Amino acid sequence: MKSILITGANRGIGFGLVKHLIENPGPLKYLFATYRNPEKMKELQSVVCKHENVYLYQLDITNFKDHDLLVQYIDKKTNGYGLNVLINNAGVSSKFTRINLVKSEQMIENFMTNAVAPLMMSKAMLPLLKKASASNASSALGVHRAAIINISSVLGSIAKNDQGGFYPYRSSKAALNSITKSLSIDVKNDGILVTSLHPGWVKTDMGGPKADLSVDASVQAIVNTLNSLNEKHNGAFIQYDGTELPW
Ligand code: NDP
Repeated sequence: MKSILITGANRGIGFGLVKHLIENPGPLKYLFATYRNPEKMKELQSVVCKHENVYLYQLDITNFKDHDLLVQYIDKKTNGYGLNVLINNAGVSSKFTRINLVKSEQMIENFMTNAVAPLMMSKAMLPLLKKASASNASSALGVHRAAIINISSVLGSIAKNDQGGFYPYRSSKAALNSITKSLSIDVKNDGILVTSLHPGWVKTDMGGPKADLSVDASVQAIVNTLNSLNEKHNGAFIQYDGTELPW
């Protein structure tokens, strides 16, 4: 792939993906990495500052009017090449929400960030994804042509929910999975692959220190999996190592 956009790249899994991709760039010419808060992007900035193929962009993904400005920015920087891969990674989690504690504000915030914003971002980026897809029309469906990767969670799996609770997070990721499915059908003829991907339980601010996987282990596996995605993964729900998950 020549161009990629990662949201929520200043910390956690997004930052890990950026670090991995600048260490192993391959043919990657344009890495667009978004951060929300200029106060919280110093580490990201210091890591990427020597890499001319990395472009940092401030974006709150819930400010939908800013999506079009980012589209224009990417179009200009890539000289009209477009975008091979959009990784909708930025997310929030109001975790500890049993039925007696859950608040409507948490439901709305989680839905807005984890489901509505990735959909609106995907909608905005479609012209760029279509351009990259068209210029790689002889390539098979996958990240080397054009793809939208929605970073979901196993907690969004309805089939695997045997613990209850977590209403805002679970339902927002289940909604994201539903969005993945519809999008995968709607844009398939444009040569764009759409997949939901669970990164594993990862040691980040969100995952906490007891999580199974280091950020490095998760992103290493994610990148390997991304490179192996093909038509059978379109509209699928998989985890970091490529294993399919039940909806
Ligand atoms: P972190 O909490 O470590 O990082 C979240 C990132 O999302 C930050 O960069 C944050 O920016 C950004 N973000 C949140 N809201 C917005 C917004 N409105 N606009 C722009 N950026 C925003 O989380 P992880 O790295 O662990 O999670 C990344 C993704 O992986 C999420 O989608 C999460 O749901 C998913 N996931 C994580 C798991 C884990 O175990 N860690 C397990 C399953 C899924 P800021 O610094 O400004 O807050």
